[in-house]
Amino acid sequence: MRVLRGATLIDGTGAAPARDATIVLRDGRIEAVTTGAGSWPAGTDVLDVTGKTILPGLIDCHDHLAFHSYDLPHRWGLDEPASTRSLRTARAIERTLGMGYTAIRDAGGLDAGFRIAVEEGLIRGPRLLTAVAIVSPIGGIGDRVSPSGHECVVPPDPALPRGVANGVEEARTIVRTMVRAGADVIKCATTGGASSRAGHGPKDGAFDPDEMRALVDESHALGRKVMCHALGGHGLRIALEAGVDSIEHGCYLDEEPELIAMMAERGVFLVPTLTVYEYHRESRAKHVRERARALHGHHVESIQRALEAGVPVVAGTDAGGHGHPPNAAELAHLAAAGLTPMQAIRSATSVAAACLGLEHEIGTVEKGKRADLVVVDGDPLADLKLLQDPARIRLVLKDGVTEVQR
Ligand SMILES: [Zn+2]
Repeated sequence: MRVLRGATLIDGTGAAPARDATIVLRDGRIEAVTTGAGSWPAGTDVLDVTGKTILPGLIDCHDHLAFHSYDLPHRWGLDEPASTRSLRTARAIERTLGMGYTAIRDAGGLDAGFRIAVEEGLIRGPRLLTAVAIVSPIGGIGDRVSPSGHECVVPPDPALPRGVANGVEEARTIVRTMVRAGADVIKCATTGGASSRAGHGPKDGAFDPDEMRALVDESHALGRKVMCHALGGHGLRIALEAGVDSIEHGCYLDEEPELIAMMAERGVFLVPTLTVYEYHRESRAKHVRERARALHGHHVESIQRALEAGVPVVAGTDAGGHGHPPNAAELAHLAAAGLTPMQAIRSATSVAAACLGLEHEIGTVEKGKRADLVVVDGDPLADLKLLQDPARIRLVLKDGVTEVQR
């Protein structure tokens, strides 16, 4: 048995912070949450964390842990040996845990072996849910083509199946292929984005309604949620009508009020990923820079309207291509876009856990949940940016085990 006592608890449910909290842990789970002093059997490991703040372990629902740059040679795996890249990825995974992130949903690029490595204890890391590879039709963001239309000729990595599917049959087949390769979630794309090739922008569609329905139905039949990259226009509508579980980015939702209402009614999550667009707004590529700048006002407006309508808004950085900035940068961006600090914390705890389908296991500090906890110096409700400072992240527990202590 282990006890953490004396800190202020922000439990992730949205309840007001509780001072002088006592959290009892046993067998990797939270056994009790109370306030004030208590008495424990001899031999109990009691840790006094008076003056600090305890939060549920943080969650990022859109990361790319195995991507380290947007350069084409990197994306095609030509810039370094696969082993070096894997070790680089392992380091990003370990650092992410060190920042208080105990669960990450990888939106493509991370093979399932990394999840196994964490589960086996070969490397330290958050709980990993991976999409393995991004699924799109020819010309979509999962299709590996150069700006001039050259197709990547490097043989595909069998752990990362090629993500291109055309037609209803292939849509079903590719879902099965991803699941066979270990996918915990299916990531697809029904539009281009800021960084996609010229000619396939934020409102340019990919997939037709029949293909998307087949993809979503097959994913759900295999017990996988569907996270869909969709920024705006027809592709955004197709994704929602097909029944995806979360919309990634959703930058032009403000132009489709009835789609926001549909998301609220069906409980579809919005993962805006504001952090990546900050990077794209300064991109060296003109078309990327222009798209990112043009969508920014719409993106903020979309988030505010989604919040007003009751759409659950989730923290995700889309980190990886732009390096691995602190995942908590997204919380400060969400607050700047209109979330209260408490809503921003929930977006990376309880609401994020629900987005993963793990709301009964993680995301709040409540009796029965897994003991994924982070202890920080200071009050994140007063200053969300402190969550970006490694020196302020003092203790990280996963399943009740100390993973990081500073
Ligand atoms: Zn992404």
